[in-house]
Formats: sequence, structure tokens, C-alpha cells
Amino acid sequence: MGCGKTMQLLQVAFNYEERGHKVCVIKPATDTKNGTKLLTRIGPERETDFCFDRKTNLYEKIAKDYKDVHCILVDESQFLTKAQVDQLMQVTIDFDIPVMCYGLRLNFRREDGGFEGATRLLQIAHDIEEIKTICVCGKKATYNARFLNGKLVADGPDVLIDGTSDIAYRAICPACYEKYLKGAK
Ligand SMILES: [Zn+2]
Repeated sequence: MGCGKTMQLLQVAFNYEERGHKVCVIKPATDTKNGTKLLTRIGPERETDFCFDRKTNLYEKIAKDYKDVHCILVDESQFLTKAQVDQLMQVTIDFDIPVMCYGLRLNFRREDGGFEGATRLLQIAHDIEEIKTICVCGKKATYNARFLNGKLVADGPDVLIDGTSDIAYRAICPACYEKYLKGAK
């Protein structure tokens, strides 16, 4: 998406490890574009500790294999289910492990509840931090727009991973969104 979420996640992982702490880095198996790795546009990358699907019970998995870590970092957290967000909350309570989730707030159609994981995170997270991104025009980007062959699309299935077809996602501002939308019609 180009908003630097993964880069920030890797930076946090680095900070923990530099101090001799163990981290557990995970991402959804939905995000298949880079296999099991996290990649960034500016270079740094990292292997995940595990990938999860919608059926993974994250509480049980962490209780079994990762109870000794100092931090859990989740990339593309919008793909978590509501139940998984609640499982991660239980991890913070029972094991006293902080969980940091990096993801989108809205789906490309800009609907509330388009990503149940994102909605649940916004409801129950202890803290929410916005990662600021700049639109091509220089204004603050708040939308995540889907482009098909260079044209903005406002409809279609919820999950299409970029790079797998002619789909690309771009962070843009509301004004440019309208402009692109008009151009697409
Ligand atoms: Zn713009």
C-alpha cells in the first residue's frame, strides 16, 4: 500500500531485539504476495514466525508456542477476524504480552465494518496511532483506493492482493479519490 506500516513494524521488532527481547511477528496467510515474508518498499525484510488463517485460534497458538516473547507484532491486521482480535486482547491480559497491530482502517470501498478486524481493533485497542501517508498531490492520504489497470474501482470483492493481477492499491486523499472516481466513469 506504500504507507510504511510494515517498515514501522520492523523498526519496533528491531528495537526489541536490540535490547535482547524476543518478538513474535505474524501475518495473515491471505497476504500471499510475499510468501511468508514481510517486505518493504525501501528494502528491509523479515521472515514471519507464523502465518495465520481465519480459523487459527491465536490465543491457543501463542499460549502453546510464544508465551515467552516480549511483544507480538501483527502485519495486515485488517484481515484478523473479530474473534482473533478478542483472542489477542486475551493474550495481553493473561500473559501480559503487548500486541501491536499494523493495518488499514477502512477497506477500499470505505465502508464501516468492511474489515471486521479493523473495526474491532478500533473498538477495543488500548491505544491507536495513525501512520500518516502523503497522497500524490501532497495532501494527507486517508483512503486506500483500489486501481485496476490504472483506473480507480469502487466495487468488487473485498480481498484482492495487489501484484497478483492488474490490481494495485494506493493511499490517496479524499479530493483525489473523487477526481479518480469521476475519471473512472
Ligand atoms: Zn490527493
